Amino acid sequence: MARIFIVDDVEDNIKLLWYNLEDDGHEVASATSGQGCIELAPDFLPDVILLDMMMPGMSGIETLQALKAIPSVENVPVIMVSADDSDDSIIDALDIGAHDFISKPFIYPVLEARVRSAVRLKQSQEELAAANERLATLASTDSLTRCFNRRHFFELSNVEFAKAKRHTRPLSVIMLDADKFKAINDNYGHAMGDEALKRIADVCRECLRETDILARLGGEEFAICCPETTCEGATHMAERIRQTLEKAVVEYDGQSISFTLSLGVTAIEDGDSAFDQLINRADQLLYQAKTKSRNCVVSSPH
Ligand SMILES: [Mg+2]
Repeated sequence: MARIFIVDDVEDNIKLLWYNLEDDGHEVASATSGQGCIELAPDFLPDVILLDMMMPGMSGIETLQALKAIPSVENVPVIMVSADDSDDSIIDALDIGAHDFISKPFIYPVLEARVRSAVRLKQSQEELAAANERLATLASTDSLTRCFNRRHFFELSNVEFAKAKRHTRPLSVIMLDADKFKAINDNYGHAMGDEALKRIADVCRECLRETDILARLGGEEFAICCPETTCEGATHMAERIRQTLEKAVVEYDGQSISFTLSLGVTAIEDGDSAFDQLINRADQLLYQAKTKSRNCVVSSPH
């Protein structure tokens, strides 16, 4: 059972097909012109479009071209229905992206089989697209914390850095690291350590805006790229993260711990020509926070 959209300027042609397709359990909608198809098909969201080649006004080819320019239906397979199978426009139609064609007069079971074949193709394309999306998520995400991973963080942040440079807009980076994290793993085990990392990510997410880019760079080290944010704004955010995490209690297997974060904050400066420079600076400031007292934010420029 599929959703099938019929386009034909002769109403009797539509009726005949409609009854047959409905008898086979398909859901059918139709239009008697190319213009009607362009208007109605995006609402109906068909699995297949049966498109007459010869129509007054907008031809089958023109209609096909218009369909390929509408994002919601551009991937719907189109079967061209032609009265003349020597028609050169069949070649054009296939080149533009028609899935198949069938000549009039057609044998209904053959047409129906081609419809089923087109539906199968659409389904496997959709499954492939979903699988690709899952893979893209896996490739860009840290599975434990659901933050972006290092590679994706730099991809996104480099783009934001370029934008900020081009439009002379602020951009800041926060680097943060759990204090004495090794002791958590040593004293409570790696499962508790994992809970602590997840909590860091949750606290960061709580304090961020949608446009900020959060990543686990590795181990217990995280980074946040904050577009459109001055060093002062990012420092406030870092301080909020520090205070929220300090109050948090992480529990695992009947035991509970608290721990703290050290954070380094920096912002884009006139001389910066690469995002890496901000990361290196934030990393040095984070190191200063560690050597100073831990559980603090060090930022520059102030
Ligand atoms: Mg016609």
